[in-house]
Amino acid sequence: MSSNFLPCQIKAVDYSANISTSNVDSYVVVHDDGMPSDLLSYVSEAKKIDKGFESEVSCFKHDNKLAIYSPLDLNDYSDVREYFKAAKKGVARAIKAGSLNPMLILPSRPKYKHAELNTVLGALSALYVPIQYREDVPEKAERIKCLNISWSQKDQLKDLIEKAKSLESGLYIARDIGGGDPERMSPPNVASYVEKAFTSGIISIKVLSDQDEFVKDYPLFAAVNRAARSVPRHQGRIIWMEYKPPKPSRKTLMLVGKGVTYDTGGADIKAGGIMAGMSRDKCGAAAIAGFMKTVELKKPEDVHVIAALCMVRNSVGEECYVADEVITSRAGTRIRIGNTDAEGRMAMADSLCVMKERAVKENLPNCYLYTIATLTGHACVALGDYTAVIDNKVAENAGHGNSFCKAGDLIGDPSEISTVRKEDFEFIRSKGYGEDVLQCNNAPSSRTPRGHQIPAAFLIVASGLDKHDASSSIPLKYTHLDVAGSAGEVPDPPTGASLLSLSQLHLF
Ligand SMILES: [Zn+2]
Repeated sequence: MSSNFLPCQIKAVDYSANISTSNVDSYVVVHDDGMPSDLLSYVSEAKKIDKGFESEVSCFKHDNKLAIYSPLDLNDYSDVREYFKAAKKGVARAIKAGSLNPMLILPSRPKYKHAELNTVLGALSALYVPIQYREDVPEKAERIKCLNISWSQKDQLKDLIEKAKSLESGLYIARDIGGGDPERMSPPNVASYVEKAFTSGIISIKVLSDQDEFVKDYPLFAAVNRAARSVPRHQGRIIWMEYKPPKPSRKTLMLVGKGVTYDTGGADIKAGGIMAGMSRDKCGAAAIAGFMKTVELKKPEDVHVIAALCMVRNSVGEECYVADEVITSRAGTRIRIGNTDAEGRMAMADSLCVMKERAVKENLPNCYLYTIATLTGHACVALGDYTAVIDNKVAENAGHGNSFCKAGDLIGDPSEISTVRKEDFEFIRSKGYGEDVLQCNNAPSSRTPRGHQIPAAFLIVASGLDKHDASSSIPLKYTHLDVAGSAGEVPDPPTGASLLSLSQLHLF
């Protein structure tokens, strides 16, 4: 396995210096802003005679090499991702042309902050090769030799490339784990991938694999795991990761990821052709694993980060959990199962409870608790390709949701705020005597009003975070991120949604 988690070499070059660019075999530009004057004169002439020049990728010969112009489509409603998309298209065209050493020329006065970074990340995203193809056909593991980058702001280029590398390495891991098929990225295989990916010692790793320990300490996770545990290669794992900063920590990030390696729906099986694509139900955990790589490379001096990847397969079989079972969570909440396809909230609630316990017991400063999950079809219906950000009242009072969305808008990983309300808590309250919570109703989330807000209420109550609300003596900020619509669909590589926002908000 590649140790740097990048799709190729990345090199800073100078367009105007012939020596450093002698290997370059193509140029890719996304805008005439920042374009070297000799290229610009060609582009200006081409625009006069080609009405399609600003809407299609164009190729021409320049300096005996291939030049590719990938235009931007900017208007009042566009955002920084246009630079990502244009660079991705431009580099994809260069690969098609057979280029092995393209030079990406960055814009010099872009419309948005972080447009240069998005241009680099877009180019790199076009170069990603899925892990199973890399492993099966090693000679195809790299699509090009080197991505050469030139920018008029020469003094800032090195820092920009370092930042892009730390983010891209994280995204690369998120794509590997999220995009691997249900066997390649089964829970035990995700654990060994993570162990091999983090060997610097900067991030400590503890893999829980004792199946009986799950029954005792993670009872909701264990319910989902029950059918899969009879097949050793599908048995659940909870992967704990931790970064301790060199200086006293100013803030503590506590991230819990849904890592459902395959979601059959369980006994409430996904019928009628809606099961395909369900290997992507681990993209929350995958994004967190990737974020930990960015943390490892960035080494924040005063941010403490703790992560739990809840890797489990929601299988169907004679051992599977079923609706009507009543199970007590780690926090002591008595839960009536309503639908086994609502397994993501089950997989995460006990680990979220452990985070809560640690925050209190270790008196950790300024905690931000998160769950990140491809949780509901409802989020896709409500928000399309955008991440839903659902703060508890403590996080909302601290302005978290707005800051998170602002960070995401800046860096090209946008989210929208949803609100968990009193009715959502009423909805999950069980009517049965001696029961606290109904895990889920019996309709799909996409046909349930407030289908993506309700699970946030469940996670708060099932983990015992309701005892740490705004009026309590130890209020805890908690945010649920539903990335069901933003994580990317089969067969495209996962997007790593939420990784960039978390990095922008908390690390850079
Ligand atoms: Zn499900």
